[in-house]
Amino acid sequence: MERPVGMFSPQIYQIRKTALISRKAFAADKFIASWIEKERLLTGIGNALVVILNSPGCQWGLGSEGGCSMCGYSNETSEGITAENLVAQFTQALQANAGKKFQSVKIFNAGSFLDEKEIPRTAQEVIFRHISEIPFVQEIVIESRPEFVTASALKRLTTILQPEQILEVGIGLESSSDQIRIHNINKGFLFADFQKAVAIALAQKVRVKTYLLLKPPFLTEKEAIADAIQSAIDAIKAGSRSISINPVNIQTGTLVSVLWKAGLYRSPWFWSLKTVIQTLWKRIAEENLTASVDRIVSDPSGAGTQKGIHNCRLCNRTASKLVKEYSLQQDPAILNELHCSCHSLWKELLEQEEATRDFSLHFFERSINQN
Ligand code: SF4
Ligand SMILES: [Zn+2]
Repeated sequence: MERPVGMFSPQIYQIRKTALISRKAFAADKFIASWIEKERLLTGIGNALVVILNSPGCQWGLGSEGGCSMCGYSNETSEGITAENLVAQFTQALQANAGKKFQSVKIFNAGSFLDEKEIPRTAQEVIFRHISEIPFVQEIVIESRPEFVTASALKRLTTILQPEQILEVGIGLESSSDQIRIHNINKGFLFADFQKAVAIALAQKVRVKTYLLLKPPFLTEKEAIADAIQSAIDAIKAGSRSISINPVNIQTGTLVSVLWKAGLYRSPWFWSLKTVIQTLWKRIAEENLTASVDRIVSDPSGAGTQKGIHNCRLCNRTASKLVKEYSLQQDPAILNELHCSCHSLWKELLEQEEATRDFSLHFFERSINQN
């Protein structure tokens, strides 16, 4: 697959290269983190075991094109990790959570679980065999870029699982706009690649969760809201029944972090996330898509801090709690419980940003040049 390269790729590459020099060393046999969290499952509210593996990392992120403009996951990866290391990490994570009850297992490896350069085939299979032996686990969630979602890779894994266990692949589409995904994010694939991957997954009875980025760099708050809503609709229409809206959080060694330090970027507001979620459910109903959606969740990293999605000091905590509650209950009206005077400041900022984003002259010039 040819990977489209964004206009900021050289800058992103340089920033990441510098950050990787001071990458922290992790022991090869130790997983990065694991915990149990409340989760919106396909059957209702339950518990998920989350395991973050110490892996070689995303090949796109570590490659010469620099990877995605907001992603600092490569900081938590290590060189020389073997299949045996990965299996040892996973079994230790299971031991660390022995005796706890969870119905879902979510595996994160700072990249693509299905990329055999990141997670060798033997490690993928042994990890799945372990999961298949946990009787109460109903859902397994892994992540992958679309180019690694192949019928054979999915078939290999699903045949290991019990018939009642459901596999879901999380794909970081980020935006359904090729322009935004390629240039603002440098994601390196097209919407058509995503659509193809979803079709392949569905044909194998594998579900797809789509990760969408709320507020990629170089968008105004208003543009970001519109982009997230439209992207979710497009992803649902492509066949993705789960949507996860991920507001940007500032991660070290990224283009977004450089912009943020220079005062040229602010993480999105909770008010924006509320607007996205509530407008999205309305659009889903208007477009008769309700039967095509299982869950629309948001689990923002760094919520309520300057680096993560935030409003003001007075309401950050309540906003974080309400977003969590919404995600579990899937009731967008829960977000109406958020009240704060910063709402008018947010509204004012939306208008000001729009006014200063004055494209009129640009459009005028372009129309002259075209005539
Ligand atoms: S966001 Fe995903 S695809 Fe992009 S660099 Fe990070 S891990 Fe790789
Ligand atoms: Zn507030």
